[in-house]
Amino acid sequence: MAGNWKMYKTPQETATFFQRFVPLVSGMSQCEIVIFPPSIDIAAAVASAGGSNIAVGGQNLYWGKEGAFTGEISAEMLAAAGARWVLVGHSERRHVVTHETDADVLKKTQAALAGGLTPIVCVGERLEEHKAGKTNEVLVKQFAAGVAGLTEEQFAQVVVAYEPVWAIGTGQTATPEIAAAAHKLIREEADKRFGTEAAAKMHILYGGSVKPDNIDGLMKEVEIDGALVGGASLDPDSFSKIVKAA
Ligand code: PEP
Repeated sequence: MAGNWKMYKTPQETATFFQRFVPLVSGMSQCEIVIFPPSIDIAAAVASAGGSNIAVGGQNLYWGKEGAFTGEISAEMLAAAGARWVLVGHSERRHVVTHETDADVLKKTQAALAGGLTPIVCVGERLEEHKAGKTNEVLVKQFAAGVAGLTEEQFAQVVVAYEPVWAIGTGQTATPEIAAAAHKLIREEADKRFGTEAAAKMHILYGGSVKPDNIDGLMKEVEIDGALVGGASLDPDSFSKIVKAA
């Protein structure tokens, strides 16, 4: 169960969140819990989560180890700050903040793994593609260009998140059936490239307006292994309710 804070919260607000959130989820071992704060808050999050069952991740990384890349952060820097996970190819980075391509996603995923981080690779179709019935085509293309280029060993360490862009931050969640069908398709693509066993082991998260009142329906689908949660992860009570549905 992953919480993507996007560009919200200061270091002080991060510490305040963890003071409330840590006791709410302590002792929960049925799933991994990861918070993805803005990079400026990672140190505060790691310090506040210390000794708990909550891990911390970065929202983005650059594939270089170091160098003249103003504004960027490497996997090694994230790991040194105590992060263990990283989001790659979030739709806001593909379509809003920058124009990350599938080729960038592959390079970032490889860099994350080389730097010792677990990447959550995000895929998902935009509203116009959804309306035009192109969901499968988009997912196959994003998987082929962004994930299928990994080695079998690399693939075994990757988590995938299906995040239909039309459902992110809109309050319009995909139905459990729509999400499960997309997850099944992604698993079939993984099966073709990496084999049945590796595909069955892959964890696929659903993301897109997940809230405490819709998580149970989503988690009933066997294809849905967890959730990537934006807005509802900013509040400790709301995110702890979601985590408890795992
Ligand atoms: C996200 O940020 O990945 C996300 C799914 O956001 P929200 O839950 O707010 O739709």
